[in-house]
Amino acid sequence: MVIVMLGAPGTGKGTVAGILKDELKIPQVSTGDIFRKHIKEGTELGKLAESYISKGNLVPDEVTNGIVESRLDDSDVKNGIILDGYPRTVNQAEELDKMLEKREKKVDLVVNLTTPEEEIVERIVNRRICSNHDCKTVYNLILNPPKEEGICDKCGCNLIQRKDDTIETVKSRLDNYFKQTSPLVEYYEKTGKLFSAVVSQSINKLGKDVAKDIIDFLN
Ligand code: ADP
Ligand code: ZN
Repeated sequence: MVIVMLGAPGTGKGTVAGILKDELKIPQVSTGDIFRKHIKEGTELGKLAESYISKGNLVPDEVTNGIVESRLDDSDVKNGIILDGYPRTVNQAEELDKMLEKREKKVDLVVNLTTPEEEIVERIVNRRICSNHDCKTVYNLILNPPKEEGICDKCGCNLIQRKDDTIETVKSRLDNYFKQTSPLVEYYEKTGKLFSAVVSQSINKLGKDVAKDIIDFLN
């Protein structure tokens, strides 16, 4: 089962993917997390990625496609993968189709999340993430705060704020989403694999509710 998570930054891709990972027992692979790990470790790839990410721009397709393709051959993703934040351009979507075809797989489900723009900005600046790489649970100081300030409910590790979760960077991340990523909605609509859902406080629907809808839909 290959699941693709689509949606602007701050719509809850990571939250929904994290729940699906636990419920469906399929690994969640976030290209953003892979880049952040390299940045933390100071690798060459990390340095390159940081120069784009810090400005709110996308890392070039050749780089990103290569990372995903090599990840597809790891044994833990043999039975399925939840791609969280990939593809993000039409080129990436086309390359993904080719990579999967070579491995006799295909995209089975595309989850497309949308959230009103004013909510997105508020969510991103209030977002906190578990620093434990094996946990990475996402919290929101307003919508979904941890029981104890600064501490992950699940594993007890410290919560951190992402460097690119600032008002300044959010603006370009959103612009880039609408220019480069939103055409993928149409790309996948044609395949009949698209599951669209609104994540918004205004209709009382959070990521966890949408995750439940997806699991019901799959059953
Ligand atoms: P968000 O969805 O909140 O922007 P991510 O963790 O998915 O967070 O991505 C963080 C940053 O990493 C993006 O702003 C972008 O610079 C880079 N990135 C992640 N995935 C991709 C991708 N598929 N292609 C290019 N750049 C990516
Ligand atoms: Zn944790």
